[in-house]
Amino acid sequence: MSKYWSDFVSQLEPYVPGEQPKISNITKLNANENPYGPSPDALAVMQQLSNDDLRLYPPMNADDLKQTIADHYSLSKEQVFVGNGSDEVLAHAFNGLLKQSKPLLFPDISYSFYPVFCQLYGIEYEQIPLADDFSINLHDYLRANGGIIFPNPNAPTGRLLGLNVIEQLLQANPDSVVVVDEAYIDFGGESAVALIDSYTNLLVVHTLSKSRSLAGMRIGYGMGSAELIEGLERIKNSFNPFPLGQLQIAAAIASFEDQDYFQQTCQRIISSREQVSEQLQNLGFEVLPSQANFVFARHSNRPAQELSLALREQGLIVRHFKKPRIDEFLRITIGTEQQNALLIAALESIVGS
Ligand SMILES: *Cc1c(COP(=O)(O)O)cnc(C)c1O
Repeated sequence: MSKYWSDFVSQLEPYVPGEQPKISNITKLNANENPYGPSPDALAVMQQLSNDDLRLYPPMNADDLKQTIADHYSLSKEQVFVGNGSDEVLAHAFNGLLKQSKPLLFPDISYSFYPVFCQLYGIEYEQIPLADDFSINLHDYLRANGGIIFPNPNAPTGRLLGLNVIEQLLQANPDSVVVVDEAYIDFGGESAVALIDSYTNLLVVHTLSKSRSLAGMRIGYGMGSAELIEGLERIKNSFNPFPLGQLQIAAAIASFEDQDYFQQTCQRIISSREQVSEQLQNLGFEVLPSQANFVFARHSNRPAQELSLALREQGLIVRHFKKPRIDEFLRITIGTEQQNALLIAALESIVGS
């Protein structure tokens, strides 16, 4: 608290990301980062462009990157918005599209940044409880609303909602914007991008932080009707017209152009996820079906808090949310095969004793 803060700032409760400890020698499975690193082409182009041209402002509308993304998803450039991480794209969507007179709807268990954005922008919201199996039930969303947002696959559960259900949601809500936050869609889900040309109220948000391993570069994008995208551009150009620098733009383009590396690394994580899920089950965990680069698991008789601390003593960090309904779960990011083996060995020693 400070006397210099406005009343508004004093009452904010900011988002708390997974910790980024400085100690080396830890196995970091707490923030859903990609263990394989960015495409070597993305690294090379950033080195190449680290030169005197950085004195210039970047291209204002990141047109080349928008075109690359548009081509990748068979959209037009006018259907693509880019921002400084998908968190920024989401922020503009909350501010520009989801702040309406009726309440915004999202699941009670989902990305914990959503209520923070609502507080920041003064948006009324209702949290809709997930079913007992942690799935999203379409019928719960068939009520008056000023917008709908959910991650798909959901975070932190990892559960995927089918495109048919998303389409029904779009049909039932023609007057409000439906945002599908697909941060983890490349790990086995089917993207709602396919529905964009049929539904002007759909915004699909992606990030290069997870499947493209560029969390440190802060690049995200939104895809939707030209009408929605123009709304986001109006906010962006009233806030920060240059959210992406030259290096970010070039790294993102290089990543999209290196499709082989992308597919290989995603596939490796998917295979590991299946293996880790099975191994955890063998150790007495219930593991929710995941289509993401993490699993959400609870042990039959050992408290999550205790497991999390015991793992930490062995140098492994996973995420534990002390929140109602999920405080017996651990969210474990899928790492390299070697990291996953360390995790399983550590858990064997902990729950086996
Ligand atoms: C990681 C994550 C984001 C944020 O990604 P950035 O692009 O790094 O800001 C957004 N939504 C969900 C559900 C995430 O898990």
